[in-house]
Amino acid sequence: MAITKVGMCGLGQMGSGIAEVVAKAGVTVIGYDVEDQFVQKGLGRINKSLSKAVEKGKLDESTKGEVLGRITGTTNLNDLADCDLIIEAIVENLEPKIELYKKLDGIVKKEAIFASNTSSLSIIEMGATTNRPDQFCGLHFFNPVPVMKLVEVIKTVATSDATFETARQFGEKVGKVVVSCADSPGFVVNRLLVPYLLDAIRALEAGVATKEDIDNGMKLGCGHPMGPLELTDFIGLDTIYYIGEILFAEFKQHHYASPPLLKSMVKAGYLGRKAGRGFYDYSK
Ligand code: NAD
Repeated sequence: MAITKVGMCGLGQMGSGIAEVVAKAGVTVIGYDVEDQFVQKGLGRINKSLSKAVEKGKLDESTKGEVLGRITGTTNLNDLADCDLIIEAIVENLEPKIELYKKLDGIVKKEAIFASNTSSLSIIEMGATTNRPDQFCGLHFFNPVPVMKLVEVIKTVATSDATFETARQFGEKVGKVVVSCADSPGFVVNRLLVPYLLDAIRALEAGVATKEDIDNGMKLGCGHPMGPLELTDFIGLDTIYYIGEILFAEFKQHHYASPPLLKSMVKAGYLGRKAGRGFYDYSK
């Protein structure tokens, strides 16, 4: 099936990045979020990211205009009815995701494919609540989406070969390298990455080193572009907390459990860059 119109649910960090790369690939996007202020924030983030690309000489001003012209925003789910593909990137929590999919299932045309950008939740658990589990898969992009080259395409036991193939081709169309994964918590990347980030927080909690020294250790000692605490701030402490909880519930292994410090910081609203404060201060 040709994907000519994408409905992007959730215009946060990930949703706005995905909308940007989809529109850059020549596909029309309609972005949905719960409140207009979030829609406007998402559209603003896309505008800023494209302007940066223009400044760097990676994009010309007229192409930027064309890309922006392919993206609209809405708070009305009914506006997504004629989309060929729905990509969902709302909060990493099963209940609101399922609630949204049930609504979408009754609104969006029957042939459309649904894809979740979840980092760790079971794709089939969401797909099975719709009448189209065969047209349901995972499309897991990485942050920041316009920069990161990878997308994990996740096939559940119910995903049809045709759906998987359409999703795989779509991932390539938007300029990504596709890794195919089974519907196992954390897929490939987060299954390996998240325990590492949680261990870095545990090291900080245990007083092994300062946050700067932990980050410098991994940057300079292992050649990582960002230290684990910087990366956790970048991804969002709430997102890492939720992923940790989900992986722990599945695998029951200590290294997937969220440390108390992470939980306290999430409760305090120190969610990382997006909140202006996480392990580091971004208020300025
Ligand atoms: P975010 O907090 O930046 O954005 C979430 C957006 O969803 C917000 O704009 C919020 O208003 C909106 N939202 C919440 N409930 C909604 C609903 N019921 N309907 C519509 N919109 C709703 O979060 P994010 O970092 O963009 O993460 C979103 C998803 O992407 C999560 O599933 C997360 O696990 C996944 N993900 C995140 C990263 C990352 O690095 N942050 C990477 C890959 C995947």
